Amino acid sequence: MVVILEEYIRNGDARRIKDEILRRYPGIKDINIVPGEELITLQIVGGAERNIVSSDIEGIEGVKRYVPVLEQYKLGSRKVHPQDTVINVGDVGIGNEFVVMAGPCSVDETTVDNALRARDAGAKIFRGGAYKPRTSPYAWQGMREKGLEELAKAREKSGLPVITEVLDARDIELVSKYTDILQVGMRNMTNYRLLQELSKVGKPVLLKNDKSAKFEEWMLAAEYILAGEDTGGGEYTGGNPNVILCHRGNLSYDPVFRNTFDVGMIAYAKNESHLPVCGDPSHGTGKRGLVVPVGLAGVAAGADSLLVEAHYDPSIAKTDGAQTIDMKQLSYLVRMGEELYSSLHGPI
Ligand code: PEP
Ligand code: MN
Repeated sequence: MVVILEEYIRNGDARRIKDEILRRYPGIKDINIVPGEELITLQIVGGAERNIVSSDIEGIEGVKRYVPVLEQYKLGSRKVHPQDTVINVGDVGIGNEFVVMAGPCSVDETTVDNALRARDAGAKIFRGGAYKPRTSPYAWQGMREKGLEELAKAREKSGLPVITEVLDARDIELVSKYTDILQVGMRNMTNYRLLQELSKVGKPVLLKNDKSAKFEEWMLAAEYILAGEDTGGGEYTGGNPNVILCHRGNLSYDPVFRNTFDVGMIAYAKNESHLPVCGDPSHGTGKRGLVVPVGLAGVAAGADSLLVEAHYDPSIAKTDGAQTIDMKQLSYLVRMGEELYSSLHGPI
């Protein structure tokens, strides 16, 4: 990493800035002062790069710009951990086989039937939200605790593991009793206290991207779960290695889409990270007719898994009916996805 100094900075001042940086970051091994024709740069040698916050360095009088070289994330990076991570949930290996997680947006009285039909259509994991993050406080907020009980029945009757969203750190203990995978929704990607608490649970966490987040911010959110909680002095407690990255679309400038599903982001996440990558073409498009083609595009881009909203009768789905596919579409998606996945990942 390199610190570029203002043109007016001379050698003596460069030493002052060097000392100030060393004082702030004792982990840095050394700093070389590199005089140039027009300005001086400082080259930071080894140590605490990932602890450096660029705005702190740029706040020092005489600093023009801080240019990081390494990515800020490490535990999620493929450079640090080249082999793919496989997360086992029951008999399912996410990252190792094609896994469709399907079910209605929210849990309701039809949940058990939906789980049986999703299983028959080929879903390997059943999804359903008991606690729903709604834009309006006046909108229905989900069945909550009663919904968790419905999920427990669905799991028992269908034999499928379940995934459901945890909205708040206060609910982790309760929700964990009923679910096999904890989902962190789009609105909570930057809820760092929630992510720290999830670093202490023994269950896999599916982490959705915030619709406006950059790739690095999404990876750093994953890092909160992977690394555990900072107790001060560079020590961390907890650390949950079982994180699934789920791309659920980005903010769309075009109102015809609820969000823009970015297959490039899926391919990039697979390249940069060893964590399993999931695509959510339901929230990623907002339209039932686009879920299958866009989901398959996600698989072609490298997704290990898809999270889709499916209901045996989408017209009675309590929430997100417009983006909910029926069981026929689900079974087609599973079949085509499986074929695509095995031809991409199977023996040549
Ligand atoms: C959901 O999966 O039902 C959900 C609320 O999704 P997101 O957090 O991606 O909006
Ligand atoms: Mn939904």
